[in-house]
Amino acid sequence: MRDRTKVVSQPIVPHIGFASLATPTYRASTIVFDTAEDYAERRNRGPDGYTYGLHGTPTTRTLEAQISQLEGASRTVLLPSGQAAITLLFLSVLAPGDEVLIPDSVYPPVRYFCSQYLAPRGIGHRVYDPLVGAGIEELVTAQTKLIWMESPGSTTMEFQDIGAIARVARARGILTGCDNTWATPLLFKPLDHGVDFSMEAVTKYIGGHSDLLMGSLSVSDPVHYETLRNSMRLIGLGVSPDDCALALRGIQTLWVRLAHVGAVAADFAQRIDAMLGAGRVLHPLCAGCSGREVWERDFSGASGVFSVVLSRTQEGSLADALTAMKHFNIGASWGGTHSLVAPMTVSAERDLPRPSDEGTILRISIGLEDPADLWDDLEALFKAVGRA
Ligand SMILES: *Cc1c(COP(=O)(O)O)cnc(C)c1O
Repeated sequence: MRDRTKVVSQPIVPHIGFASLATPTYRASTIVFDTAEDYAERRNRGPDGYTYGLHGTPTTRTLEAQISQLEGASRTVLLPSGQAAITLLFLSVLAPGDEVLIPDSVYPPVRYFCSQYLAPRGIGHRVYDPLVGAGIEELVTAQTKLIWMESPGSTTMEFQDIGAIARVARARGILTGCDNTWATPLLFKPLDHGVDFSMEAVTKYIGGHSDLLMGSLSVSDPVHYETLRNSMRLIGLGVSPDDCALALRGIQTLWVRLAHVGAVAADFAQRIDAMLGAGRVLHPLCAGCSGREVWERDFSGASGVFSVVLSRTQEGSLADALTAMKHFNIGASWGGTHSLVAPMTVSAERDLPRPSDEGTILRISIGLEDPADLWDDLEALFKAVGRA
């Protein structure tokens, strides 16, 4: 071998005895084959075989398998963002003439995907009350192919009766999917309640450090897995093994982080509820939150995100009070080590108006800072905006 060949030939070193607790980051585009015959038959390797980096490496498969374990799923696929996971599912199971039902409290980009991308391509959508429960029966039509759920709803925190909706859908041969990002599979397992597709924005709690974007879809039925894998192959979607390595690291502390932020958020939510009164705090332990009885029945805990509905008079001084916060950062997304606040106005993204959705809703995500520092910030904020 000459030098110019040596520079592109990585020597093979023994792996025997190398027992690391960390999953190696296997990066690849090309996968090479021992023989021309192996190459010709690469399609027969099946979904678990390796054929091309885009379709999986041992690192991506490890994360898929770990999320499957937690979801109680047979299979999981990984997408480049939470939003991509949702849109891939919709594109995979809906055809022109079909219709998807989405809750009014849905993560807003999903609503825009339906109205701006699916509608011009002949795929319909209708918006339903997230608290409809078994009443979804009256909304489904022969065109309904998918019922999408998100529990609790983004910002407005409605807990949905997932089991009741899934039962109606199953009986009618309609598929169901659920965005489980707030709870993570540690606090709620959608597949155990009869849902076909459980989705996580891995970006949030599973990643856990505000440094990666990823989404997952987990299924019980291998047929659904094939459907998703096929769409991914045709569209050309996959995730970076480096991001998977970060997620594999993040997931190891998931329950400790969730237990901590859940306890701090519950404490703060109840304190703010006592300060403000009038059912303004949207946390399952506070009276203003819709679907609390469902949370009580179905969830094994609460995570670290909750919201506070501000009154018109409080909105005036909000901007200055937010800027004055010392420990909370202002920003969207959540689930990382840093605490965040995001003032949200949701009324433009609602079809079924409720008075509490009219003004500003403050979404709060608790991170891992000292809770006493965080409380100082929140107390100062709610004092500054006043009680009214
Ligand atoms: C953030 C989020 C998403 C989208 O995740 P990205 O990775 O940011 O695309 C979807 N659903 C919920 C509930 C989210 O909070």
